Amino acid sequence: MAVVGQRSRQLMAFHGPAAASQHAILAAASSVVPYYTGAVVPQHSASPVTPSAPDRPIGYGAFGVVWSVTDPRDGKRVALKKMPNVFQNLISCKRVYRELKMLCHFKHDNVLSAQDILQPPHIDFFQEIYVVTELMQSDLHKIIVSPQPLTADHVKVFLYQILRGLKYLHSTRVLHRDIKPGNLLVNSNCCLKICDFGLARVVEPDDSVNMTQEVVTQYYRAPEILMGTRHYSYAVDLWSVGCIFAELLSRRILFQAQTPIQQLDLITDLLGTPARDDMRTACDAARQHVMRQKHKPPTLAALYTLSNHATHEAVHLMCRLLVFDPAKRIAAAEALAHPYLDEGRLRYHSCMCKCCYNTPTGRNYTGQFEPDTQGAFSFSFENDLTSISRVKEKLYKTILEQQACTRVPLCINPTSASYKSFASSQCAQPSELPPSPHVWE
Ligand SMILES: [Zn+2]
Repeated sequence: MAVVGQRSRQLMAFHGPAAASQHAILAAASSVVPYYTGAVVPQHSASPVTPSAPDRPIGYGAFGVVWSVTDPRDGKRVALKKMPNVFQNLISCKRVYRELKMLCHFKHDNVLSAQDILQPPHIDFFQEIYVVTELMQSDLHKIIVSPQPLTADHVKVFLYQILRGLKYLHSTRVLHRDIKPGNLLVNSNCCLKICDFGLARVVEPDDSVNMTQEVVTQYYRAPEILMGTRHYSYAVDLWSVGCIFAELLSRRILFQAQTPIQQLDLITDLLGTPARDDMRTACDAARQHVMRQKHKPPTLAALYTLSNHATHEAVHLMCRLLVFDPAKRIAAAEALAHPYLDEGRLRYHSCMCKCCYNTPTGRNYTGQFEPDTQGAFSFSFENDLTSISRVKEKLYKTILEQQACTRVPLCINPTSASYKSFASSQCAQPSELPPSPHVWE
């Protein structure tokens, strides 16, 4: 079943000279709040574990840089995300605060969450935030473009976990708004976690409130966003899942367009010209663009040619996800009830999940295969974020509160071998980011 590297590469060697831990970026902090610059890492408080693998970058996103590092307290490899220049403007620091709150709130096996946040320096020197999460070896994008075989079972178990994670996220009232293969992390056991909440936000219950269209990487962007709707909801994430489902089967991007207009045209090539009512939330100019074109019949039968694994059940579910009108698109909970996912659920809960376990008389299955959140995610913390200094203060307090009292806090070791390259790692340049939506009017 494994499609990514074996765990053995990951296992730590618990021997070797203790001094080697000086080379690691992550260090156990002393009880005194340190300054990043010039902080001397106290060797006695660090665990004597020596990392066998060097710290290295594993990803660069729009809002952060992720490195693979060793937790000095137990020698486990973890992912360290650096969020630089947090307090440049009010929008960016509110976004980071929101992402951090989410990472600390989420508790679900198919959603990435924060294991730790590094001890911040004195508030006067507080500019960057470092979050520790579980390290996953790969992501769906890397797997799709690799030569590794993807069986029908792989597709089912991946799709099951994507929807299972999304059902949970949506139960917390969070829209992810950037579901794409690169944001679906996968480990060597094929366990999958949704990550990167840089664009996520809570659902907007008020229809009259305008929401940004600067969301979702273009290939996975729902038609309502492409058509300039002012208000959208959970369904945008489900559209992205439909695109990823097709991509898992064919190993090609389903709608790979150069521009947002072409993106919309590719969608209507497959689904046919939408009925006027299916475009009711679109802006006038976008609706006129679609109506001006020659009437297109749907060509959904093409979905059967995606792969040998594109069975009737697979295509049926895909057609429920790739629905033009967001109000008619299937929801995550409903999609999970589709018969196509029965085998994925069985496989996941037979040998991959943490919610079921073996007993001498057989497997003890959980009562809730696809759990929702236990407690609602409160967004009231956003209410009085009126200035950068206010956000900074609240963020600082939140981080200190989050630090687990039972474990030694972590900090960055500026004397480590790779500190220089870690400190200079940059986020993606604007030119590398997906194109903005088309401006219709
Ligand atoms: Zn289970």
